[in-house]
Amino acid sequence: MAAIDPRALTRELLAFNTINPPGMERACTEHLGGILEAAGFAVAYHDFAPGRTSLVARIGNGSGAPLCFTGHVDTVPLGAAPWTRDAFAGETDGDRLYGRGSTDMKSGIAAFVAAAVDLAKDAARGPGLLLVITAGEEIGCEGAKYMADHGLLGSAGAIVVAEPTGNYPYVGHKGLAWFEIETHGVTAHGSMPEVGDNAIVKMANVIGDLQGFRFPVESHPVMGKPTMNVGTIRGGLNTNSVPDEARITLDTRTVPGIDHVHLCQSLQALVAPRGAKVRQIVDTKALYTEPANEWVQQVFEACTPYLGARPQPKTITFSTDGADLKRGFGGELPAVILGPGEPTLAHQTDEWCSLDRIGQSVELFRTLMQQWKG
Ligand SMILES: [Zn+2]
Repeated sequence: MAAIDPRALTRELLAFNTINPPGMERACTEHLGGILEAAGFAVAYHDFAPGRTSLVARIGNGSGAPLCFTGHVDTVPLGAAPWTRDAFAGETDGDRLYGRGSTDMKSGIAAFVAAAVDLAKDAARGPGLLLVITAGEEIGCEGAKYMADHGLLGSAGAIVVAEPTGNYPYVGHKGLAWFEIETHGVTAHGSMPEVGDNAIVKMANVIGDLQGFRFPVESHPVMGKPTMNVGTIRGGLNTNSVPDEARITLDTRTVPGIDHVHLCQSLQALVAPRGAKVRQIVDTKALYTEPANEWVQQVFEACTPYLGARPQPKTITFSTDGADLKRGFGGELPAVILGPGEPTLAHQTDEWCSLDRIGQSVELFRTLMQQWKG
């Protein structure tokens, strides 16, 4: 099989419009599946909904757990501001490759697919590789959750999540738990508020109560503190009525040791005296590997020449499919987030990726693949 040019492959992937919503990842996923099948991988496709296709590609002789590389093919929308570049044509300017998904994260997928195709023959004679390419990551990790829930992932020994990190290896990220809280009341004419029961006033008190909420774990040595933000508020239909319903959504970012079911119960207990109800709407667990882990240290070593100094243990601000995949693989295995994209450019207008970094990423992934002993 001819070598894959990772920059050309990134450009090919950019040409598939996989903006989520609606996603419709199938054509893009099948393009990657075709390349991997031709290189000797066993490829299985899994749809969590029509056209919402993820894939799992395996190669190896079963002598040990394979090394997993993962990435998502869906992207976020283009945003309201106009782009100065074509978002799908793969335009380049010097070292920059422009396009929606160039950084987050079609370049990362192209890099590990190019490295994996290149080393496929070696990988077939050892514990090998497991490539998990997901749909629906940008809205609640839907593809990864589906495969984890349905036992479609098998096993792996370690995970590289090729999200945009500028080739810096991060040892995890916070968990993400979103909640909707609603209050109810009784409507009445706005001139006679004493006859009604105002749901917005109740919600104002709920928001006040939330300011005093204390997480069960106050801080994590690498991740720092958990956070909470009231992101949206809605209530009332017209100015001259007493509102009988109000809703807020709450974005919490958690650290290891905070269980999301327990967190939901604690929030419910806090706001119950106001008659409010809490419902969890998004759930992605924290991902964390002790930096002292032997494989993580190997990854740090491999990255050092590209960074000019040995990496320090850090976690990244965004969340990934890694937490759900780890659950799908049965729990305890190390994971790093490491990919060629620029973290500051994810989801931006005129998103771009450095062509040099894509090349470095392929070399780095090749090293990790060659060192992997299962
Ligand atoms: Zn991403």
